[in-house]
Amino acid sequence: MRIMVDRTRCTGLGMCESVAPEVFEVDDDGDLELKATSVPEDHLAAVRQAVACCPNEALRLAP
Ligand code: SF4
Repeated sequence: MRIMVDRTRCTGLGMCESVAPEVFEVDDDGDLELKATSVPEDHLAAVRQAVACCPNEALRLAP
């Protein structure tokens, strides 16, 4: 699974980082960095939770 970010929606609030810090990181400028574009199998549950909790619906998973 790949993580897709809609940069036009992301406002750098960091909810995803708080849920899955191994995959998401918001830098000092408020820009979201992906530590992995392909979801590590052992982090899939956390990434799904991050996608669900993004208040701006900026994240989605693609095959
Ligand atoms: S939770 Fe959503 S809006 Fe916030 S940093 Fe993550 S992707 Fe961006």
